[in-house]
Amino acid sequence: MTVDIDKTRAVLLQERERLLREIDELESGLAVSLADSSEESPYDQHMAEAAAFTQERQMDLTLEENARMSVARIDRALAKLDEGTYGACDSCTKAIGSARLRIAPDASLCIDCQRLAEKGL
Ligand SMILES: [Zn+2]
Repeated sequence: MTVDIDKTRAVLLQERERLLREIDELESGLAVSLADSSEESPYDQHMAEAAAFTQERQMDLTLEENARMSVARIDRALAKLDEGTYGACDSCTKAIGSARLRIAPDASLCIDCQRLAEKGL
């Protein structure tokens, strides 16, 4: 399998930067909405508004969580690049496949193990 290590590393680092910026923005957004809530106390007055507000915050938290998980995956992929194990499945050590890595350069499992992992097996 042919993987351009330098190019892959650059792609991963770029994506990592983007995610960290996104996390930053989400966190400052959450801080602002928390500040708003203390002033207006939407929980007492407008139930519908409060629900929408809570939902929005929940969504931001989920986005942030996803972004953090992506960063962790990228860190793992970068570590594998350094170890020289990039492109090998973490679980079964088989080749992940260059087609899959092109779509998901941060993949650390082959498609079979990924499917099993998603099923919780
Ligand atoms: Zn595998």
